[in-house]
Amino acid sequence: MGDALRHVHSGKVRDLYALDDGRLVVVASDRVSAYDHVLETPVPDKGRVLTQLSLWWFERLADVVPNHLLTTDLPAEAPPEWAGRAMVCERLQMFPVECVARGYLTGSGLADYRATGQVCGNPLPPGLEDGSALPEPIFTPATKAAVGEHDENVSFEAVERAIGAPVAAELRRLTLAVYRVGEQIARERGIVLADTKLEFGARPDGTVVLGDEVLTPDSSRFWPADSWQPGRPQRSFDKQYVRDWLTSPASGWRRDSGEPPPPLPDDVVQRTRERYLEAYARITGRPLGTVAP
Ligand code: ATP
Ligand code: MG
Repeated sequence: MGDALRHVHSGKVRDLYALDDGRLVVVASDRVSAYDHVLETPVPDKGRVLTQLSLWWFERLADVVPNHLLTTDLPAEAPPEWAGRAMVCERLQMFPVECVARGYLTGSGLADYRATGQVCGNPLPPGLEDGSALPEPIFTPATKAAVGEHDENVSFEAVERAIGAPVAAELRRLTLAVYRVGEQIARERGIVLADTKLEFGARPDGTVVLGDEVLTPDSSRFWPADSWQPGRPQRSFDKQYVRDWLTSPASGWRRDSGEPPPPLPDDVVQRTRERYLEAYARITGRPLGTVAP
């Protein structure tokens, strides 16, 4: 015994529990966050995809960066519904920086580029469009916002001021290293990894460790390579499908209304679920397994 679970934090998607020995159980729910809201409609199996895909990548990235995973063996007190969606992790002191790498231009990066010709202080050549490949991957950090607020792109210098120049340089190096490995593996599987967001933390001895999730459809943009075509929004295996529905006339919702988004219709839930499962299957080469009770 001595494993009692104490709830310590719920983010938009994950719930965190502390064990008596200081380890952390990170449980990915089926909640969907979009446009700074947590939607009231869950997407079944989404949390299992996030956890199983993160586990798959952690293994493949083991030579690139240490990660927070300790074991997937859950304590006896863990409820059965955590099966497949929980991992026991080292508790880290998280850095307050969303570490984003981009190899392609879209989303907030595209908006910044159109306004300034740069993204987070990275100058880019003229003439790039929505979906264009960048000359080389860039580090475009953002500040972590409180629930209901936007993450904001910041310069590398702002990260240096927040956490110190040596750690900032280490986060940039590791973020780009993870992106390069992820991009190559995804490309071999017919997927463009357009961008990805990582979160790092420190061990008590200062070692920088990859936390949270990695290279999932929530934290990354995955585009089918065979239909990639700059100059328009891309098809995707990530939660862009939900975002597009929310901002379409069909939802009846306006992003700037201040209102919470409406519930998702069944067909949108099903198609979103299929996209998450498809991302998992394409990347790992096998379908998401059924979870033993
Ligand atoms: P926040 O919780 O900051 O609102 P979020 O909505 O993205 O962000 P989730 O992804 O739902 O959060 O929850 C994960 C939370 O757990 C994040 O705050 C993340 O920084 C934190 N976290 C992830 N791994 C660890 C770890 N090993 N130690 C401590 N905290 C962690
Ligand atoms: Mg998160």
